[in-house]
Amino acid sequence: MTFLNTDAPAWSFLRGFEPASLCDWPGKVSAVLFFAGCNLRCPTCHNASIAWNPHRSRPVDHKSILQQILKNRKWLDGLVLTGGEVTILPGLDDFLKTLSLMGLPIKLDTNGLKPGSVKMALKHGFIEKIAVDIKGPWEKYPHLCGGLISSSRIMSCASKIFKMAVSSPERFMFRCTMVPGLDSSDLRVVRSYLPRGFDLRVQKYLPPGAGFSAV
Ligand code: SF4
Repeated sequence: MTFLNTDAPAWSFLRGFEPASLCDWPGKVSAVLFFAGCNLRCPTCHNASIAWNPHRSRPVDHKSILQQILKNRKWLDGLVLTGGEVTILPGLDDFLKTLSLMGLPIKLDTNGLKPGSVKMALKHGFIEKIAVDIKGPWEKYPHLCGGLISSSRIMSCASKIFKMAVSSPERFMFRCTMVPGLDSSDLRVVRSYLPRGFDLRVQKYLPPGAGFSAV
């Protein structure tokens, strides 16, 4: 593992690991890395303990996790980076380059608030998929995201993300979780935002601790 820079600052935000998931990357068996820190405060957040207070949770032993992923590499289809919000990790560009040395395609989950980081991630061919969460209709964002974002800001960020998706459709997917406060008419509104040809993957909301499931 000497070929991996295990001193990169982003590693200190690693808080969890799922060795083999069948649901975090549709159609693939993936290892999942959970990172602390987020730029939103969604009241329905499943990972609030790590997302909102990164310095109050303990880092995990990333070296042993990396060893395990490398050991399982033959039967893994990919690696999923999730959080929290991965696009705010320090030194993200170099960190992604380091991860590429593992030789696994990567999926990155994001809330879409950092289109510049998404653009940078797209430069890396091994970032095979970017899953963007659309929380709901734009006007509901302040309520759905803990008051940390205005409707106009998410509209601006999403418009940049949608342009990238139009240019690289195979590398994007869009998701919405049916949290309390959303209904089917909201889903219709969110679908109407997506560029032509994209489907919205809808996730059923389960209370924290119970996970998500596709509907
Ligand atoms: S964007 Fe995701 S990780 Fe961040 S607070 Fe909202 S649900 Fe939690």
